[in-house]
Amino acid sequence: MKCIMCGGTAAKQNVEYKEFGMVFGKYPGHVCEKCQEVYFDESTVDKIQQKSKELGLFGLAKKAKVGEIGNSIAIRIPKELATFLNLEKGMEVTLVPRSKHDLHIEI
Ligand SMILES: [Zn+2]
Repeated sequence: MKCIMCGGTAAKQNVEYKEFGMVFGKYPGHVCEKCQEVYFDESTVDKIQQKSKELGLFGLAKKAKVGEIGNSIAIRIPKELATFLNLEKGMEVTLVPRSKHDLHIEI
């Protein structure tokens, strides 16, 4: 198949799928030889989504609004995400800006 991203050729390959650093296993897909973009067919996407639900990962990536507390800016972490990360009140985390558009939180 043709790659939508770059027009290169995507060849059949078993692809190891990961979400939030957890390995789901290998799934049949197509990988672009030029840009490495990965494509899965609809039934495979369904299987991956099912696995994601089983592992309690589905929908963990959430939008959060930036608020304000005193002189600080605050971002609320949704409960499901805090549970997944074993994040509790009083814990210390390190905020690492990776770029102007990416904030990493080390726990
Ligand atoms: Zn490509």
